[in-house]
Amino acid sequence: MSLKDKVALITGAASGIGADCARLMASQGAKVVIADLNLGAAQAMADEIEAAGGVAIAVGMDVTQEDAVDAGIDETVAKLGSIDVLVSNAGIQIVKPIEEYPFADWKKMLAIHLDGAFLTTRAAIRHMYASGRGGSIIYMGSVHSHEASKLKAPYVTAKHGLLGLARVVAKEGGPRGVRANVVCPGFVRTPLVDKQIPEQAAALGITEEQVVKDVMLKDTVDGEFTTVADVAQTVAFLAGFESNALTGQSIIVSHGWAMK
Ligand code: NAD
Repeated sequence: MSLKDKVALITGAASGIGADCARLMASQGAKVVIADLNLGAAQAMADEIEAAGGVAIAVGMDVTQEDAVDAGIDETVAKLGSIDVLVSNAGIQIVKPIEEYPFADWKKMLAIHLDGAFLTTRAAIRHMYASGRGGSIIYMGSVHSHEASKLKAPYVTAKHGLLGLARVVAKEGGPRGVRANVVCPGFVRTPLVDKQIPEQAAALGITEEQVVKDVMLKDTVDGEFTTVADVAQTVAFLAGFESNALTGQSIIVSHGWAMK
């Protein structure tokens, strides 16, 4: 169970949860690929990891674009020799009630969360099969892979959908050593969440403090946010777990919000 010299590509790794997954896996010996829409921020993250003694490259990638995904994963294999771990993590949030939800935003949400997961999976699994060594695919789900919340129709739909994709990848990939699992965090203070606190307050007609206490953390066991480190440790554990004993599963990391 080691990440030493494994090549791990993490999408959306220029910020938040993905950035901490990259930092932790690099500190455990993986060569990491910071794949992000924001190439400047991705390069800064790769530089930070290299300065700390790790190995990292930055790749500009819009996960909704087939050509960009294929090119970024080919570039990874050309530069680092393989792809052993994929963390499909890039994501955004747009909160609105269904009756106001613009169709364009619905399609954008599904494109980033579901098309992105499919396209990165397809490109990575081709190399994992060709290498004969298999690999580990980890999807960044959410408690919203199992539960619903108001204002989040496409997010909840997409995060539930990742469970289905992971289960199919687990079945198809198992005989060839490719595992697929979903990590399901509760609320983590990242730019994605900081942005939605005032938006939810406005949409629900409550204060920002009430959004945090009565919406986001209401069902946790201790009223605490999950941290990027909590999620990164779970991702690194799955990345280094080398048998099919753990595949097709989802692990909820949420201070007890949703117990499945
Ligand atoms: P974040 O906003 O901090 O980081 C998201 C990153 O994704 C950014 O660097 C952004 O540039 C990148 N990105 C956005 N669109 C992209 C695209 N089309 N192609 C490539 N990169 C793109 O967000 P975060 O909170 O770290 O979220 C990461 C993942 O974790 C998301 O899938 C999110 O749904 C999931 N998640 C977050 C929380 C939370 O509370 N923060 C909880 C559960 C799940």
